[in-house]
Amino acid sequence: MTTYYTADYILPITSPPIKGGVVAIDENGLIVGLYQSNDPLLHDKELIRCAGVLTPGFVNGHCHLELSHMKGKVPKGIGLPKFLSTVMAERSTAEEEVEKAMVDADRAMFANGIQVVGDHVNTPVSATVKAQSPICYHTFVELIGFDPAVADDRVDQARDTEYEFEPQRTSITPHAAYSCSKKLLRSLSDKVDDKNIFSIHNQESDEENKFFRYKQGAFLDFYKENNISHDHMTANGKNALQNSLQFLPEDNRVLLVHNTYTAPKDMDYVARIGRDVYYCLCPRANLYIEGRLPKIQSFVLSKQKIMLGTDSLASNDTLDILEELKTIHAEFADLSFETTLSWATINGAKALRVEDQYGSLEVGKSPGLILIKNMDSLSLTAQATVERIV
Ligand SMILES: [Zn+2]
Repeated sequence: MTTYYTADYILPITSPPIKGGVVAIDENGLIVGLYQSNDPLLHDKELIRCAGVLTPGFVNGHCHLELSHMKGKVPKGIGLPKFLSTVMAERSTAEEEVEKAMVDADRAMFANGIQVVGDHVNTPVSATVKAQSPICYHTFVELIGFDPAVADDRVDQARDTEYEFEPQRTSITPHAAYSCSKKLLRSLSDKVDDKNIFSIHNQESDEENKFFRYKQGAFLDFYKENNISHDHMTANGKNALQNSLQFLPEDNRVLLVHNTYTAPKDMDYVARIGRDVYYCLCPRANLYIEGRLPKIQSFVLSKQKIMLGTDSLASNDTLDILEELKTIHAEFADLSFETTLSWATINGAKALRVEDQYGSLEVGKSPGLILIKNMDSLSLTAQATVERIV
């Protein structure tokens, strides 16, 4: 059975907005038609009328479902190195508590209109929740190992974790430049094919850049506190971004996550070396941890591929892409909602290679359907809310 939905606007994303348009969806969530308001094919159809803007489901490009039990446990504004130490100390929570928090977070994301999630893991604990979820997950198994001696073992362990998620979508990824030795990055390069997507925490704090350039700053305290040796490292004058990208295979797609301290010269560097990069912004997590936002205009001006993520409940009050969009629009009033909505949908879908099914309202896709209410025509307001329709 086909259901016909109409609203003030339909925003298909890959084609222009349709005022008073109609989207037709079958019982399996497949889009079977997209119509202008006056299309004669609609004359005998019963329409479900919605007040607001209909869009495809959101793509949350960066999350850590397995940290959901940490909601409210990390103080705000403590900076990245202290944040990492706090998260590491909270890892020993009881299994049932972790499980329940993941189920709640998965349901909340779906209710908040999220259809696809790029999710980082260190363990297989989220595999069952994901297998039973209506959300499409791409799981990134993180590699962490700053001691070069553990490099080969760590890749094999990550591969074991990856198997636990079969047949779901997965990749193995370095966690960040500051948590992976050069040897680990090289060892990974030898062991993945070119379909493997990397998703790296990048320049989330300026301390990362300071550490690599000068071997100074708060990361030295972090390593000391956590008994992590950095003896093998010498300051090389390059920043964190250069210290990860240069050791990864050239043909693999890379999602650079956070980019709070990424400058135009970094984007030029990425372009110059010809890497296939998406910049994933997680504004509310940046405000939570570092108290500042990336220079979003720089990414827009140089026409970068931008996508959005929530990060985890350790560094966010909610896993809600609409709230991320509100945060961006409150700070950068010049951006159009159509632009930022494409970051929150099709760009994330392309980055995760699921754009054949998700990220836009097109016949033949099953991207979910969400209603954004309390809009001011096509402008997002602070009062906007989201309701899942399909
Ligand atoms: Zn993260």
